[in-house]
Amino acid sequence: MADSIEKLKDIFKKFPTVGHRTAGRFVYYLAKLPKEKVAELILAITDLKNKIKLCRLCFNPYEGESEICPICQDSRRDKKILCIVEKEADLITIENTKKYNGLYFILGGTVAMMRKEDVSQLRLDELKNRIKNNGFLEIIIAINPTPEGIATSVLVESIIKETGSSAKITHLARGIPIGGELEYADEETLASAFEGRK
Ligand SMILES: [Zn+2]
Repeated sequence: MADSIEKLKDIFKKFPTVGHRTAGRFVYYLAKLPKEKVAELILAITDLKNKIKLCRLCFNPYEGESEICPICQDSRRDKKILCIVEKEADLITIENTKKYNGLYFILGGTVAMMRKEDVSQLRLDELKNRIKNNGFLEIIIAINPTPEGIATSVLVESIIKETGSSAKITHLARGIPIGGELEYADEETLASAFEGRK
């Protein structure tokens, strides 16, 4: 097979939820696309990289001149509550419920096994720094109740304790189906899981 096809396929395969087959479909779709459409895509990607920054406090991607993201900047938000989520999409899902008014921290994934190379993908050091000396009163661990998520929650809880934080550690109430993903929970279910956290 042509090198250019293989090369692009390998890039797409690294995208979340994209497997070998889908990566191939993307490549053939692009091969058929008119040149100006491809140029548009390249420009959009370059634009994204030039404009989007990761918030240094919560790691939420945002656009703008400010040092931190609009959520961390918002003076109406409760700076004493921190909610730890796996990924950006979970933050957006929680924001959409409008039931949460605290801050966030995006962990960057979950791990099934406590192998060093897997664990190092998570923002654990950043999390420690975020919690230390920030006086949080409550830290919500809102990680998906999948097997990997549950293992990761245990790890996160031990990290929080290591920092010596006196924050109350809470978990979302049952309601998110076990093995389910926050991202796909309906807003009402998620809202009540938030309200019933303990
Ligand atoms: Zn932020």
